[in-house]
Amino acid sequence: MIVFARYTLEKNYLTERKSLLKIRLFQLTRDNDRQTVLSANEHDTYAYLQEVEILMETTVKVILLRHTPDPEEVVAMAAKLCYSPSDIEALKEKIEAKDQNIFLKRLIEMHHMSPIEHASFTFAIEGISRACSHQLVRHRLASYSQQSQRYVSEESGFDYVVPPLIKEDEELYRYFTDFMTQAQKTYNHTVKKLNKKGIEGEGANQDARFVLPNAAETKIMLTMNARELLHFFSQRCCNRAQWEIRRMAVEMLKLAKKVAPVIFEKAGPGCLYAPCPEGSHTCGKIKEVRKTFLALSI
Ligand SMILES: Cc1cc2nc3c(=O)[nH]c(=O)nc-3n(C[C@H](O)[C@H](O)[C@H](O)COP(=O)(O)OP(=O)(O)OC[C@H]3O[C@@H](n4cnc5c(N)ncnc54)[C@H](O)[C@@H]3O)c2cc1C
Repeated sequence: MIVFARYTLEKNYLTERKSLLKIRLFQLTRDNDRQTVLSANEHDTYAYLQEVEILMETTVKVILLRHTPDPEEVVAMAAKLCYSPSDIEALKEKIEAKDQNIFLKRLIEMHHMSPIEHASFTFAIEGISRACSHQLVRHRLASYSQQSQRYVSEESGFDYVVPPLIKEDEELYRYFTDFMTQAQKTYNHTVKKLNKKGIEGEGANQDARFVLPNAAETKIMLTMNARELLHFFSQRCCNRAQWEIRRMAVEMLKLAKKVAPVIFEKAGPGCLYAPCPEGSHTCGKIKEVRKTFLALSI
């Protein structure tokens, strides 16, 4: 909590310091060099940035940017239209005057899913790796806008995601971060050399990015309708999904539940209200999984 407060207060200052430091650090390879070349002031900043974990390593951040206003009312309207002889204005007035929860619950139980497609949700996500975003964009019934590695230069230092298992192993972690430093050096060297040949901007970035790893951080905006989100959650909240996309999907689910609690009441991995769909690949933790996701509804 204290660290968070300090972080908020000093965010602007740190963001600026981080960019400057990143440029300096990527000119160096080993910790020894870092110690001798960095000034005392830079050392303090580096240590502090490490303390609050905002130096180069990142973690997922999910924001629900926009959603259909009154999503559950819109879905109820679409569904009622299917069954009602009323005209649309009369229907609209009726729906606005009534609580639609019971009707919506019945609709979902009946698997009458097309009305749910009328509610859509736009998320902004940052602090995920390219490995994660590559899995995300396999979901085809969605719209995506991703930060470009052509138009955005990574010369001042690319951020990256460290898998927890690598982070907890000191030796692996060092290997991993050394490799990131090396990738950055090769990237910067490639850009500079291409610049000397008169190839600037996106022309240089688009080739230099070939050395960036799957761990490189990315930012992406996506829009999915509620039906696709339910499908996405069933696959990606599952323990069989890779840890990073699962973490992201759970954050998305929490946000979606806040604005459309009835639509997403039973959302989660496929095993929540049915046998595990993974068969012999089951994680074997159905009880714990159910407990976790049912707790999200409270
Ligand atoms: C645990 C896990 C492991 C995975 N491992 C791999 C892997 O090793 N290799 C790999 O390549 N992928 C892998 N994937 C990705 C997976 O194959 C799917 O591409 C991804 O999960 C998107 O699912 P989807 O196609 O159902 O969903 P979406 O693209 O979100 O589509 C939603 C639904 O719409 C319908 N639909 C969409 N497009 C079509 C279409 N063209 N024709 C007919 N129906 C359509 C389908 O019913 C589909 O389920 C993995 C996914 C998971 C969750």
